[in-house]
Amino acid sequence: MPDRSQFEVIKPEVRSASAYRLEHFAADVKLDQNENPYELPDELKQDVVNRVLRSQWGRYPEFVPERLIETLAHVTGWPNEGILVGNGSNELINAALTVTLHPASTIAIPQPTFTLYKLMSTTLGATVDDIYLNEHDMSFDVDALVSAARKADVLILCSPNNPTGSLLDRSGTERIIENARGLVILDEAYHEFSEQSALPLLERFNNLVLLRTFSKAMSLAGLRFGYLLTRPEIAAEINKARLPYSVNIFTLAAAQAVLEHTDVLNRAIRTLIDERERMLGELTGRPGVQVFPSRANFILIKTPHPARRVFDALYSEGILVRDVSRYPLLDRALRVSIGTPEENTRFLSALDRVLETLQ
Ligand code: PMP
Repeated sequence: MPDRSQFEVIKPEVRSASAYRLEHFAADVKLDQNENPYELPDELKQDVVNRVLRSQWGRYPEFVPERLIETLAHVTGWPNEGILVGNGSNELINAALTVTLHPASTIAIPQPTFTLYKLMSTTLGATVDDIYLNEHDMSFDVDALVSAARKADVLILCSPNNPTGSLLDRSGTERIIENARGLVILDEAYHEFSEQSALPLLERFNNLVLLRTFSKAMSLAGLRFGYLLTRPEIAAEINKARLPYSVNIFTLAAAQAVLEHTDVLNRAIRTLIDERERMLGELTGRPGVQVFPSRANFILIKTPHPARRVFDALYSEGILVRDVSRYPLLDRALRVSIGTPEENTRFLSALDRVLETLQ
């Protein structure tokens, strides 16, 4: 244990923050991390392994992975110089906040949202302006975001939002960016499931930074890959806070392979969207269950019972969901990822039994 004076070297903002953590639970039906339940086909995995076997493991990856960036530029229609790749989009969120925030700056963050934004911002000493979602349907409060954007140095938005599934529409997004005094970071981790993206806005707005990940729709959470799109001058600055060689050769090969085989993924995404719609319909009819609109690959629900009791009861039936009741406004809420049709059906019948027993 460090003695008191050594411990005080740690910034007070860090000491008082709660760590980002996830308890590990094994389960038959894993609906807790918004992953894609469909693994990539074995042939595609084998193709990646073959590519990696041909490369030299004793050498560093390319300093800038040109071919992959070229492919991303082709897919997005955005120039290479405006694209950064990272070890998951978490690394890029961290880099974007590191180069912008300091103790005299302010960041506006909708709440509830992905907890990492606030944790990183506080660690950097910035003041956080929490902008609450509309409680009845968890939609974005666009007017409040517009006024916050006028004052904040940075505004970070997640759409569709984790953990609520709320989507910010195109006109709301435009109004917020138009009024922003500083940078708007838009995390599109779940955009494939909403069939909507702010990509076309990059041309029009110099202050927009888009973040994407391969951990959700692209089924590569285990390999850690994300990318960022913004105008080249800003990308060059954010790049200064990235760690060199953060994306390893295995991940580079897998990301390339996935981009060359989007047909397989598109089929899985279609099934997940259809399943989300089925689940929304099924849950909406259930007595005692409050369901929030979702355009992501997960659904937020509230029940009349403490979330931990529902979580435990579902877990004892082999189903793992996420207890999000500690987020602001989310008392009694659980987040359920969309799984395969069989998994979703198992969840629905387990939920019925659990709600009946807990009455
Ligand atoms: N942004 C959001 C909104 C997320 O939900 C997550 C993962 N939970 C991430 C970013 C992190 O993604 P990655 O795995 O690419 O670091």
